[in-house]
Amino acid sequence: METDLVASSKGKLVNFRMKELKDVLTKLGLPKQGKKQDLVDRIFHQLSDEGVARIIDDTYRKMQISEAADLAIMGQSGLDICNVKVEMEAEDSLNLGGKIFCPCGTSLPSESKIQCVDPRCLVQQHISCVIIPEKPMEEIRLLPPLFFCETCRIKRADPFWITVAHLVSPMKLVASNIPTDGTNPLQKAEAAFHLTKAHSDLLQNTEYDVQAWCILLNDKVSFRMQWPLHAELQVNGLLVRTVNRPGTQLLGSNGRDDGALITLYIGEGVNQISLSGCDARNFCFGVRLVKRRTVAQVLSLVPKETAGEVFEDALTRVRRCFGGVATGNEDGDSDLEIIADSIIVNLRCPMSGSRIRVAGRFKPCVHTGCFDLETFVELNQRTRKASYSFILLFLSMFRIFKLIKVGKVSGCCSGNVPYA
Ligand SMILES: [Zn+2]
Ligand SMILES: [Zn+2]
Ligand SMILES: [Zn+2]
Repeated sequence: METDLVASSKGKLVNFRMKELKDVLTKLGLPKQGKKQDLVDRIFHQLSDEGVARIIDDTYRKMQISEAADLAIMGQSGLDICNVKVEMEAEDSLNLGGKIFCPCGTSLPSESKIQCVDPRCLVQQHISCVIIPEKPMEEIRLLPPLFFCETCRIKRADPFWITVAHLVSPMKLVASNIPTDGTNPLQKAEAAFHLTKAHSDLLQNTEYDVQAWCILLNDKVSFRMQWPLHAELQVNGLLVRTVNRPGTQLLGSNGRDDGALITLYIGEGVNQISLSGCDARNFCFGVRLVKRRTVAQVLSLVPKETAGEVFEDALTRVRRCFGGVATGNEDGDSDLEIIADSIIVNLRCPMSGSRIRVAGRFKPCVHTGCFDLETFVELNQRTRKASYSFILLFLSMFRIFKLIKVGKVSGCCSGNVPYA
């Protein structure tokens, strides 16, 4: 029979990257070679041992801390460019550290709670309100390793907008009655909000807008907006468009919905807004005053090389991609050698088709492919396709070319070597 301990260890293991898996295997004195699945299987066989569970737990906690640090860096760099005082104050105004602030609208302290990991937020929410199992009736076995409240998720959902103020605090859509025939229930959220003179004056400036937003509470992609099926947004009695896809079509796993700009539908004083949808899933809806970021400002948010992958890790990754094999003893990557005689490095950006100027990559990517950072950001301003939460950082190709020069990697670089 599977104990709780084993079950929770398994849950943690599936979140591990190669690094964590190898850490665990090192501690267990087991070989670290093979594909990810082999490593997982090797640890699985040891799970009945309590000591192993403790090692997994330890490694898991370390991973959480390092991921939280990454995201904190991201949040921090976001601050650097909004040095206008009103924005700082507004961003801080939802700083409810340790307080209960839940989209259900109540602050009952009795239930079990979960805390947002954003160091500038730290609000607590009812687990039963915000942690939704994938299938209804399913039990929640494992809380997410990194929990972000919906306010912090929306803040990271679109780097082209800075939250200046929340005009309607996040609220859950509620179904008045659940149909017994299995069809999707009609869900609704309604609010009245007051637009102050100060905010109304800000809106005279075209950099500012008022945005209605919606997220799926248990979205696999944390940092994106998503509207319910058959979404109907009404502002002061007028219908506002939310999505371009048909009301019956689900958002794909790589898609992103945009917020609805409602500035033209509202005025100083009291405004009415409502959102309804025909959907069985759990959504959270809100309205915020936002300020637009330029492409240059978004580019400045991308963490610099120094905040990213350490050089040794990058080297190991590149060597692995270029056919490096482990030789000799089983411990450590120090024995990885480059066995290829020549390596062709493609410097063409897959998006623009031109040569990469500043090479960007997603932090979790284990390959060597890069794209032109500026092209990527510009393209996304228009199409909103990619997930920004992952442009965390990058080790520039420059470093790899330095390696080529010192002869650690031999290769011809399909023509020109930039930066050399
Ligand atoms: Zn709640
Ligand atoms: Zn938060
Ligand atoms: Zn990759």
